[in-house]
Amino acid sequence: MEKRLICINCPIGCHLSAKRESDSAKWEINGNRCPRGETYAQNELTDPRRVVTATVACDSAIISRVPVRTSEPLPKRHIDQLLNRLYTMQIKIPVKRGEVLIADVENTGVNVVFSCDCPR
Ligand code: SF4
Repeated sequence: MEKRLICINCPIGCHLSAKRESDSAKWEINGNRCPRGETYAQNELTDPRRVVTATVACDSAIISRVPVRTSEPLPKRHIDQLLNRLYTMQIKIPVKRGEVLIADVENTGVNVVFSCDCPR
C-alpha cells in the first residue's frame, strides 16, 4: 500500500510518500528533508490530529465572539463534535488568555482555552 502526503510542519511542504507491507504496522516514509516529516507522516497515518481554532459567543457589548483554541492537537475524530459544542455556547466575560473553557475534551487530555483577554 502506498499513500502520498504533504508535510505541514514548515513552509517547505515536502511531498512525502508512505509505503507499508500489508502485514506491517509501520510505514516507510520517503521525501522528507528532516526528521519532523517522518514523525508527521507516521502520526498522520495512524492518529491524525489538528489544533482547533474557533470562536464562542459572549455577552460583551463590544464584541460578539471570543477566540478559542485547543491547547494541543486534538484527534480529528473529535473535531466536528467539539465545533458543534463551541458554536452553541454563550460565555460570560471577562475571560483571560489561557483560561480553560473546556477541560479534557472527550478524555483526550486536550483543553480548549481562550486565545485572548476579554475584559468586561
Ligand atoms: S519534512 Fe521537515 S523540511 Fe520538509 S516540510 Fe516537513 S518540517 Fe519542513
